Amino acid sequence: MKQAHYDIVIVGGGMVGASMALALAGIASRYGLQIAIIDAAKTEQATPTAAGDLDGRATALALGSRNLLHSIGAWVPLQDYAQAIVDINVSDQGQPFGAQIRAQDVGQKALGYVLQNQHMGQVFWQQLNQQCAGQITMIDQSKVLELDNAIKDSRLLYERQGTTGSEQVEITCQLIVMADGGRSNLREDLGMFNYQQSYEQVALVVNVVLDKPHNGLACERFTAHGPMAVLPLLTADEQHRAAIVWTQPNQRAEELAAMDDDTLLTELQNQIGYPMGEFRALGQRQIYPLTLSVANEQARQGLAVIGNAAHTLHPIAGQGFNLALRGVFALAEQVHKACRAQASIGSLAYLQAFVDASAGDQQRTVGASDQIMKLFSSGDKTLMIGRQLGLLAMQKMPLAKTLFARSAMGLDRPLADVLPLTGGRHD
Ligand SMILES: Cc1cc2nc3c(=O)[nH]c(=O)nc-3n(C[C@H](O)[C@H](O)[C@H](O)COP(=O)(O)OP(=O)(O)OC[C@H]3O[C@@H](n4cnc5c(N)ncnc54)[C@H](O)[C@@H]3O)c2cc1C
Repeated sequence: MKQAHYDIVIVGGGMVGASMALALAGIASRYGLQIAIIDAAKTEQATPTAAGDLDGRATALALGSRNLLHSIGAWVPLQDYAQAIVDINVSDQGQPFGAQIRAQDVGQKALGYVLQNQHMGQVFWQQLNQQCAGQITMIDQSKVLELDNAIKDSRLLYERQGTTGSEQVEITCQLIVMADGGRSNLREDLGMFNYQQSYEQVALVVNVVLDKPHNGLACERFTAHGPMAVLPLLTADEQHRAAIVWTQPNQRAEELAAMDDDTLLTELQNQIGYPMGEFRALGQRQIYPLTLSVANEQARQGLAVIGNAAHTLHPIAGQGFNLALRGVFALAEQVHKACRAQASIGSLAYLQAFVDASAGDQQRTVGASDQIMKLFSSGDKTLMIGRQLGLLAMQKMPLAKTLFARSAMGLDRPLADVLPLTGGRHD
């Protein structure tokens, strides 16, 4: 069996694993670390998608996340794909009060940005290829079969499918970062308990073509069956586009999957009305079961857990990746500290500091997403009145609106101390 050694191995090259590698690139270059990132799938950049592609999920990036990505040089190449959110319209179907949050009211050019996930993935992997080839080895189409943390060297085994068959490789390293997503078998194999609760809901995800420019407007609408978010996508190939995420009870999943395009277009339009104009065409729809999960162990000696492997949130507030990115930077900061102190980067003291630094943020964000979901998915009269009062208060009290907007934008936390992609900055 082949053997290899790295300082850090990241398991999973989704949006979180790839951004972890990017956040570590400057540190790796400064301290001569070797990093490997392993993913079971083919890397995103192998199949570039057109800017105007109507399929696939989109992510609302908070302004704080934009700043984090900018700090490591990853924002500039992402900008070409990013649509700024300049207005958010929150409304409750059939009810009088709503709230409007404008970027200019909170002294910003944008409240956040929307990017299609496939474009983010492609840009992250391109950046890793072009800027970090000396420190970071990318291993795709390779499934990690088992892993073990240890005091001295953590160990993992992966299998690569090649044209001439499969081969297994054993790796030793100081630190394994698990970014293998919400259905992580590896975490279970390690006996790391994961609190899980089904929402008994699905998210219908579909992109639409609009008949007119959206001017950066995003809408959040509370409908009888569940909340619907409509996010503006970058206009491309002369098409004005938006991404829809509609939370629905589990029982509607089959009906929504089977509905013909015209009926679904009408259904979506009826729910949201015409604040973004008329929906003209649909991309492919996707349906995701929704669960809340939090791993109650997120670090061991030589091992850390990040992204969906550590927590999955209800998508109503669009915070899953934003929270994960803050975790990525909190971990990179501890790796940086360990390097500066010439300590082992797998040392539990540093990894526990990462867990401690992230815990409050995780509790707040997971809790807030859960509460917002309960408040806004309910047809209960008392909760509906509370929700209307909340929207009214937000509209009438500029301070409440500003605080809410700053928190949602991820601007209420300082930037982590991480070296930029292109070289040293701190020390
Ligand atoms: C409908 C919906 C809308 C959302 N909208 C937003 C939003 O607007 N804003 C926001 O911040 N967040 C949003 N999120 C959350 C966000 O999408 C997730 O937080 C994010 O995608 C998690 O990425 P990840 O890299 O942790 O996991 P994943 O994307 O699941 O990636 C895991 C990777 O690990 C690889 N892998 C798994 N097992 C192995 C193995 N054994 N060996 C090798 N590789 C392996 C997989 O191939 C995969 O590439 C939304 C989520 C949903 C469902």
